[in-house]
Amino acid sequence: MERPDWETSLDVAVRAAQDWLAGVGDRPIRPERDLDEMVATLDRALPSGPSDPGRVIADLVEVAEPGLLAINSPRFHGWVMGGVTPAGVAADWLVTAWDQNAGMATPTPATTALEHVAARWVRELLGMDPDVSVGFTTGATMANLVCLAAARDAVLRAHGWDVEARGLVGGPAVRVVGPDHTHVSVTKALRILGLGQDRLVRVATDDNARMDPDALAEVVRDTSGPLIVTTQAGDVHTGGIDRFDAIADVLDEVRADQPDGGVWLHVDGAIGLWGLASPDLRPSFAGVERADSWSSDAHKWLNVPYDSGMAMTRHPDAHRRAFSMSGDYLAMGDGMANPGDWVPEMSRRARGVPVWAVLASLGRSGVVEVVDRTHRMAVRCARLLDAQDGVEVLNEVELNQVLVRFRAHDGEVDLHTPAVLAAVQQGGATFPSHATWDGHPAVRISVSHWRTDVDDIDRTVAALMQAHCRLRTEAPDHADR
Ligand SMILES: *Cc1c(COP(=O)(O)O)cnc(C)c1O
Repeated sequence: MERPDWETSLDVAVRAAQDWLAGVGDRPIRPERDLDEMVATLDRALPSGPSDPGRVIADLVEVAEPGLLAINSPRFHGWVMGGVTPAGVAADWLVTAWDQNAGMATPTPATTALEHVAARWVRELLGMDPDVSVGFTTGATMANLVCLAAARDAVLRAHGWDVEARGLVGGPAVRVVGPDHTHVSVTKALRILGLGQDRLVRVATDDNARMDPDALAEVVRDTSGPLIVTTQAGDVHTGGIDRFDAIADVLDEVRADQPDGGVWLHVDGAIGLWGLASPDLRPSFAGVERADSWSSDAHKWLNVPYDSGMAMTRHPDAHRRAFSMSGDYLAMGDGMANPGDWVPEMSRRARGVPVWAVLASLGRSGVVEVVDRTHRMAVRCARLLDAQDGVEVLNEVELNQVLVRFRAHDGEVDLHTPAVLAAVQQGGATFPSHATWDGHPAVRISVSHWRTDVDDIDRTVAALMQAHCRLRTEAPDHADR
């Protein structure tokens, strides 16, 4: 066989990626073409035979670019999505090129060791104990699932039931309690785990979506069976951080009447957990170390490429019981656990390696700088907007999320707020996204990109204000329509 030509396709890809990344902050953030147009453009027959790889990649670049959303722009504020860094992109590519199946420990020593170190660095950065288990997942949905599977194991085992062997049927009922703003990925995890999303007992929250510890105490008091409580370090709308110390105090009282391990406290830290790295923000998380498990995303605030999250627990045994595998044909490490022991997949991408690279390139002070600056930028954004006529900031900025509403002259919001958002997204200079808060439309501005600075926030605010003022003048009174 001829030796494959690796250079042409990779050269085309590198050049296209460099062009894309260099220009991503200057192009319109919204895609030029919508989904229907992209589907129409790509509606081609399966090629009947081989094509030159370099030409395939050049064609891919040409056809895809008009349909790309510029998420890696410092003025992309949609949902909660981070960007990518030079070290992260390159490490991610190498993970692909090296083609290591990183599920088992010993056959792929380089990636196993890199993930091992990445896990240690994450623990150190977040101030967690050295024996906290870490699984590198595709994101926080998977991390929540993994943590709650470990929780399910532990609370049922404490009550004499081996869920791995026997399943849930016939076992003790598990109570699951969380804030009424619990993220949909947690309810999805409950669905997948056979606990069912309706099992979640929702506890009242305050104006910033933080669970009320007194209301929690009412709900969990006298719980004698297995109990899982989920909390949030960063609500998806407000960035609100639950009061972990007060919550853990409530659970300690329940624990006093329970067998050891019968109560599990989980933290969904998809958005906010990296705030723990910042000495300034850390006090807002007081008591977070008293939890039993934490999920986080690396592809949000840490700006690692997709797919990247982590599931962490204080109970490696429960974590491993839920996910380890053995088989006569596998090469399972002794001593160091297999990377696949902490996550659902058997064959797996070494997704901890880009985490390693991003942490290696930023270092502790770099992570803290990104976290602190984006927090400051969110505070700035909220302050600038809140000072404007007809603009109302709806949340207290604890992390990097701003929730805002725009009013027409007559006070109308249900048409005006979405109209402002649509105009701004269409304008292309900035890209916040939508939400519903208190039953009415709102705009969410997430400051998650590692480069967002004063100029970006001021441009975002200017674009919003321009649309707000123009639409207010054009449609001064909604009551007349
Ligand atoms: C984004 C998010 C998740 C889910 O994370 P993915 O990485 O998208 O799977 C879970 N919880 C919260 C609070 C989130 O913001």
